[in-house]
Amino acid sequence: MRSAVFSVGTEILFGQIVNTNTVYLSQKLNQMGIDVLYHETVGDNPGRVKEVLARLLTEVDLVITTGGLGPTQDDLTKEMAAEVMGVELKIHEESLEKIRSYFVKTGRAMTENNIKQAMLPASDGFILPNDAGTAPGCVFEKNGKIVVCLPGPPREMQKMFEDSVVPYLHSLTNEVIYSDMVRVFGPGESQLETMLEDLITGQTDPTLATYAKEGECSVRITSKRGTLEEARAAVEEMAEKVTAILGDTIFSYHDEDLKDVVAKKLMERGITISCAESCTGGLFASTLIGVEGISSVFERGIVTYSNRAKVEELGVKEETLQRFGAVSEETAREMTAGLKKKTGSRVCVSVTGIAGPDGGTPEKPVGLVYICVDFDGKVECKEVRVRPVSRNWIRNYTMLMMMDMVRRAIG
Ligand code: ATP
Repeated sequence: MRSAVFSVGTEILFGQIVNTNTVYLSQKLNQMGIDVLYHETVGDNPGRVKEVLARLLTEVDLVITTGGLGPTQDDLTKEMAAEVMGVELKIHEESLEKIRSYFVKTGRAMTENNIKQAMLPASDGFILPNDAGTAPGCVFEKNGKIVVCLPGPPREMQKMFEDSVVPYLHSLTNEVIYSDMVRVFGPGESQLETMLEDLITGQTDPTLATYAKEGECSVRITSKRGTLEEARAAVEEMAEKVTAILGDTIFSYHDEDLKDVVAKKLMERGITISCAESCTGGLFASTLIGVEGISSVFERGIVTYSNRAKVEELGVKEETLQRFGAVSEETAREMTAGLKKKTGSRVCVSVTGIAGPDGGTPEKPVGLVYICVDFDGKVECKEVRVRPVSRNWIRNYTMLMMMDMVRRAIG
């Protein structure tokens, strides 16, 4: 199926909001095996909405619009779609009742113009309920062409798309799509592609696609088959082949974040954790604390930025700092040992490094980092040379390295 994503909203053209709806819908449609041929945006102008929609429908079978379903005079997407498709709109009593009760529930007064939101296709289409707001969406289907009208607010749009549009689009094809995202930490995107080259070349089904995001990489495995079971089995079989190549650099088969994977392992097994951070300045603690329920295992996070803090808080020896420097394996080891003594946490992780942009030397360049993890007395220390993209990039990548070392340490 060939499709287009059509955004309506003057704010988008003014650059006041970022068109995240188009990004979201394009990703979802592509994952479903529906080709997206065009992205179009117009302001709240009925003439242009109509003109662009009519043109798009000469090229594609499916147009998904977002925005312009609200109660005001310039919210006219649905009305224009009805005209282009040659379908009548009429008041849909059930939707009107829902809008009324939404206003009662939220304690606001419903104005006359809200009735407009309950004007929906009288035939050749159906209504998409809005459980997250007032404006229902709708689908127009006529002469082999489809227009799906969704609301503008991303939360409402995404819920409607997932709950109603995805099952509808699946019902149109005899094929079912299943996909999983394998998340990897370690290899970069081009390295990943090279490693998976044999599997990627000549792929038809399942397909493999690699993505990169701030130091992390992912591989999406997608299969389109006659039944969900067949598609899932094909994806799982391919995941095994991917595992044989990528091994333990894989931290999730179902698109989970590294922090969530680590937090889950710690919480499930009741393993306590503390951290002492220099160059990341609390980023590791803050990231882990972003996971719900972590209080059951997270004991303490200390930012020991200065040499004095390392000595006073963690008992790092002055002599060690003098001899080897604050950024050294010896200091990282003493930081972890001091943290262990102080907290007794089963996992103690420490980090010291040069985030830059200043402070680097030929022997100790910007991006040089030492991470030391102690899990139940088994200590592992690692020297890492992070690509010196920027101060914050180094801090973020270092935090991910710490997460990954903890993941590997606890197994
Ligand atoms: P409402 O019922 O709230 O009026 P609507 O369907 O008429 O919804 P718009 O008025 O066009 O939608 O947009 C409402 C809000 O949704 C915008 O102010 C903006 O915050 C967000 N929004 C609209 N379009 C997009 C888009 N393409 N990407 C991201 N956000 C969007």
